[in-house]
Amino acid sequence: MLKNKDYVPADGKPFIYDYTLEQLQNWVKEQSEPAFRAGQIYDWLYVKRVGSFEEMTNLPKLLREKLAAGFSFVTLTEITKLESKDGTVKFLFGLADNHAIETVIMRHNYGNSVCVTTQVGCRIGCTFCASTLGGLKRNLTAGEIVAQVVKAQQLLDPEGERVSSIVIMGSGEPFENYDATLTFLRQMTHPKGLNIGQRHITVSTSGIVPNMIKFADENTQINLAISIHAPNDALRSKLMPVNRRYPFEEVMDACRYYIEKTGRRITFEYALIGSVNDRPEHAEELAKVLQGMLCHVNLIPVNYVPERDYVRTPRDDIFEFHRILERRNINATIRREQGHDIAAACGQLRAKHMETQAR
Ligand code: SF4
Repeated sequence: MLKNKDYVPADGKPFIYDYTLEQLQNWVKEQSEPAFRAGQIYDWLYVKRVGSFEEMTNLPKLLREKLAAGFSFVTLTEITKLESKDGTVKFLFGLADNHAIETVIMRHNYGNSVCVTTQVGCRIGCTFCASTLGGLKRNLTAGEIVAQVVKAQQLLDPEGERVSSIVIMGSGEPFENYDATLTFLRQMTHPKGLNIGQRHITVSTSGIVPNMIKFADENTQINLAISIHAPNDALRSKLMPVNRRYPFEEVMDACRYYIEKTGRRITFEYALIGSVNDRPEHAEELAKVLQGMLCHVNLIPVNYVPERDYVRTPRDDIFEFHRILERRNINATIRREQGHDIAAACGQLRAKHMETQAR
C-alpha cells in the first residue's frame, strides 16, 4: 500500500530495480514468457549492470520492448562529485523529480563501503544533523536506494574492485521507510545479484521502536546500529526529538530484544558534542546503562554544522570518554574520520545545494 510520502514517477512506471527476482518471475509469467527470462533480466541488472533494456541482448526484441513499456531505469544525475585525499568519494545525485540525495563511497584497507540514503531529507530532527533542516520531502523507492549501490559498483568496475559493505547511514530514517529498506536489503544480499554478505551490511536507526522489533523478527544477520547520542532520557530528548515518541528506556528494551532474538551484537552510535554530552559523567552514565549488554559503542566527534551552534569535543576529552567506557568494560572505538575535507557529514552537501537553489 502506498504511504503518504511514497513516490510515484511522473510516467507511472515503476523502476526496474524496485522489483525483486521473485516479482520479476511473476511479471515474466504474466507476459507468457519462459521463467528463465527473469534470471536473465536480473543478471543484466546486477551482474552486467547495464543502463538500458536495449543492452539486454539475449532477450527477444519484443520482451525488451515490453520491459521498456512497463518499467524505467532510475536516473541518478551527478550534480556534484567530491573526492577526498583519503579516497572517499561523495556524490550529490539528482533524481527524476529534481530532488537531490547524497551517496558516499569510502575506501578502507579491507574493502569498499557505500553509505546510502533512504529518504529525501528527514523528519526526525536530530539537532546536530544537516539532513533534517528542510524536513522530509519523500521516501526513496527501493530501486532508488539500489541504484546508489549499482552506481558505486559501476564506478569501481574499471578498477576491478567491488562494493564489499553497505551502511544505511545516509540521509533519512530507514525504519520510517521500512518496506523499501527491506526490499533493498533483499536485493543487495541476493546470491544471484550483488551477493553482499548480510554481516557486511549495517542499518542505522534513530530508535523507531516498533520497527526495531519487526526487524529483529526478520531473523537476518544484518547489523543494527542505534543512534543513541545520550546516556539518559532527558538529554536524549533535547538532542533527538524522536526520543519523546520512543523514550530512551523503550529503545533500550528493543535493543535487548534484538540481541536476544538474533544473538548479534548491537552498535550504539554516540556523536560527541562539545560540553553537551561529552563530559566524564556522561561516559560513566552510559557505561552503567550498557553494562552487561552485547554491544559496541562508536564514538563520533560531531562535524560542525553551521546552522547549529555545537562545538567539537577537544581531542583529549574524546580520548578520556573512550577510556572511561573501556575501563568499565564497554567495547568502544572512536570513528576514524573520512572525507572531512569534502564535507562528508550527512546532509551537508545537499544543504549547500538547496541554499544555492533558493537564491
Ligand atoms: S541523524 Fe539520521 S535520523 Fe537524525 S535527522 Fe539526521 S538523517 Fe534523520
